This record gives sequence, structure tokens and C-alpha cells, in this order.
Amino acid sequence: MAARKNPQAASMLLKDDQIVIGGAGGFIAGALVRRFHDQGFTRIRAIDKKPLPEWYQRVPGVECLCMDLSHEDNCKRACEGAVEVYNLAADMGGMGFIERFRIECLRSILINTHMVEAAWRAGATRYFFSSSACAYNVELQKRPDAQALKESDAYPAMAERGYGWEKLMSEMFCQEYWAERGFETHIARFHNVYGPWGTWDGGREKAPAAICRKVIEAKNTGRKQIVIWGDGHQTRSFMYIDDCVEGIDMIMHCDKLIATPINLGSNFLISINDLVSLAEKIGGVQLDRQYDLDAPKGVGGRNSDNTFIKKVLGWEPSTPLADGLKKTYAWIEKQYKDRKAGKRTVS
Ligand code: NAD
Repeated sequence: MAARKNPQAASMLLKDDQIVIGGAGGFIAGALVRRFHDQGFTRIRAIDKKPLPEWYQRVPGVECLCMDLSHEDNCKRACEGAVEVYNLAADMGGMGFIERFRIECLRSILINTHMVEAAWRAGATRYFFSSSACAYNVELQKRPDAQALKESDAYPAMAERGYGWEKLMSEMFCQEYWAERGFETHIARFHNVYGPWGTWDGGREKAPAAICRKVIEAKNTGRKQIVIWGDGHQTRSFMYIDDCVEGIDMIMHCDKLIATPINLGSNFLISINDLVSLAEKIGGVQLDRQYDLDAPKGVGGRNSDNTFIKKVLGWEPSTPLADGLKKTYAWIEKQYKDRKAGKRTVS
């Protein structure tokens, strides 16, 4: 079948077109639901396998369904009448989770496999898949000063075991739906996302939230110590949640980015040690550092090369880490206090 021309420009998306968002009980998809709601879209269907009371954010007026999207029938139901489908559902977490639970991570392939098919069968106009920097070749990320990753660095493939390979295979599904069936798919490779309303405790949290929580805990308990995973020299870049959802919106609605994976991340590289210093500065405290060299620490260094996104969108994530982390710290501190007071929290 010949590739179909994009039938509907972004600006022509009607406010009452059906938008479907998978993984909406979690961090990023929850923020995406809020963004579309605030933009005035009136038919948003949000889906997650978590029971509704456990969703991180619930936006009034949004249709919320508790369904497991690794089942074909549920994906068909989820995509009924859809104009746009965003798949952000995945069994995932920080390094502590993805190094320990590779099978769970790989099983997320069922979600995308059924969702993209259901979206295509429903006659949706566009489909978005949230991939990850973990899809990149790990051989290129051994040193803290590793070169920033450009899109072509995913091949020859040697992705992160489990989680990264699932992302790479699901990207390929999306690309073939365009090549073979003319179904318009868009793929973003997120680099570490952080911000309020993200997981901050319980084993799935990522470095920025974990470090903020540890600093808050140390202040609260008076035990002025922090345990850092690895030697602290490993480097990463971190993207604030507002930049992430803005980027998703732009990538989904760019005709030049059909079936073309693109980095969505900050290119401000920082070591874990410096990230701890930043959180300490925000908390107004200095802690004794202990290094757990046996803890999961992931690759030595990972950064986003933003040459392509700047060229094609004339934009890149730009929230300064110090600003984003300050907001995140304040939110986690409030969560921490709420939990101590016996109130319901996110984690
Ligand atoms: P999250 O864990 O907060 O959200 C994912 C949601 O998917 C969860 O609420 C979970 O319950 C739901 N889910 C899992 N399996 C499901 C299923 N079978 N059916 C329905 N829902 C299911 O994670 P997040 O940080 O919001 O990540 C969203 C997406 O972005 C994921 O695909 C993730 O792999 C990708 N990503 C995130 C980051 C990051 O830094 N947060 C980085 C790279 C890629």
C-alpha cells in the first residue's frame, strides 16, 4: 500500500476530536492529559491499568478508564473513535527497576503491538510512541564524557537489556505501520524526564526525584548522610516535564517527523555528584556522601544531541535544571510532609 499523505494538519485538529492517551495514571501521560484539557480539547480518553484512586493526576471532565492495554480487546475499546492516539503506557522505572525487572520491561511490547494495530483499525489519524534514550547503543555510553547521542546512534543496535530492546522493537513496529500501511506514526526518544507529579519513592523513581527525597529525608531525620548509587561520576541530562509535553505535541504534529525517531531531551550534561550538590543547595544543607558501588548505576554517560530537533522544529527543551529541580524539590517536600501526616500521596 502506498504511503498515505497526512490528511489533517495539526491546526485542523478539532477541539472535539477524540484523543486517546495510554499510561495516563502515570507521570508524563498525566501531564499530557492536563495539557490537552487546558488547551480546550473536550474529548480526551485517559487509560491506565492502575485503579483510578492510584492515578497521579485526575483531570476533571476527562474520560478515565482502568484497563490493561497489553490485551488486544482493551486496546480496541481504548481506540474507539480515536483521531489521535498517544501510547505512553509501559512497565518502567529508574535504573533500580529496569535492571532488576527486564522481563516486565520486555512485556511492554504487548502494549504497543496491540495499541498501534487498534489505532490503525479505528482509523486514527496519528499515533505517538514514547521511546527512550535506552534504545541507544550502550557501547557508546561507557564514559562520563561520552559524546551526546544522535538519532543514528541507535544502530548498529546494542540497546539497554530488556527495556531498551523493547523500545527499539516498538519503534520498528511504528515505522513499519507507516511504510507498509501508510499509518502516520511519530516516535520520540525521551531522555530522563523529571518534575512534579512524578514517581518519587517506592523503587521506580529516577535519580532527580530520588536525590531530592534523600536530601529531604536527611534534613527531616537529622541524619546528615546521603547514599549515592555508583561513584557519582556517571553523567546524564534531565528534561523538565513541561518541556517534555510541549515537545510531544510538536513532534506529533510535524509532517517532517513521520516514522522518524527523534531525541526529546535536554543537552545540559551533569554528573550525579553535581546533581546532589544542586539538591543540597536547594535544601540548604550539606550531607556526608556514601557511595554504594554495588547499586544499579546504568551507563557511564548519556546526553542528548539536539542538532536534529533544533533543525526540524527550531526548538529544544530549555528549562534550566536549577529552576526545574527547585519546583520538583518543593513538590516532593510537600508530598513527604503529607505522607507523614497520613494524607494520600503519589509514589
Ligand atoms: P510512569 O510509570 O509514571 O507511567 C507509565 C504508566 O503506564 C503507569 O501509570 C502504569 O500503570 C501504566 N501502565 C503500565 N502497563 C500498563 C498496561 N499494561 N496497561 C495500561 N497502563 C499501563 O512512567 P512515565 O515516566 O510517565 O513514562 C511514560 C512513558 O515514557 C513510558 O513509555 C516510558 O518508558 C517513557 N520514558 C520515560 C522516561 C522518564 O524519564 N520518565 C524516559 C524515557 C522514556
